[in-house]
Amino acid sequence: MLPTVHIRKEALFAMIWSTFEVFKKECLGFVLGYRPTAKRNYFLVTDAISIAGLRRRLNTEVEWTRRTKRRFQRFRELINPMFPKHLGDFHSHPEWGDCKPLVIMSDFDIEQFIKNGYDLEFIIGISSRRKGQVFWEIQADGSLKGSFNSFNFHFNVYALVNDNSNLKPERLQIVAPEAIKALNRIQLKY
Ligand SMILES: [Zn+2]
Repeated sequence: MLPTVHIRKEALFAMIWSTFEVFKKECLGFVLGYRPTAKRNYFLVTDAISIAGLRRRLNTEVEWTRRTKRRFQRFRELINPMFPKHLGDFHSHPEWGDCKPLVIMSDFDIEQFIKNGYDLEFIIGISSRRKGQVFWEIQADGSLKGSFNSFNFHFNVYALVNDNSNLKPERLQIVAPEAIKALNRIQLKY
């Protein structure tokens, strides 16, 4: 069975901020946490950190600068003996004109994911919202949707699975009761 992905409130808030800050541009960052063990079949995402060293070509195309990539590899090696571990990356797919963001992995995303060989990749859809609020809720496909301020967010997390000796991304079930409770409490207040 595929592991689920438990996300701490702090990590989810950090990803919301990162996505929110640069909208309508794309954000990039990475997540830290704990891998599944024989006893518990889930990833625990404890932290999410934005990347500042970015090179933007278009709103929808953003890359780490070469220097950031190099430093990140070093950082990853240095923290490797410790916990929490680097589990993977996150990036946003902002709306484009009137188009709602697609939260599936693009061909480029899949290519990068396979090349990097990380455990997890988060894709966060963000679009503007005219009025009202939507409560945060886990969807039937395991993703997480809700609104924050005047934006709709859609969190998806993928892992690579072996499909007839081809690697393909599969969406994992998100578990985040504490974060959902806190986000829904914010909505009741404002
Ligand atoms: Zn993407």
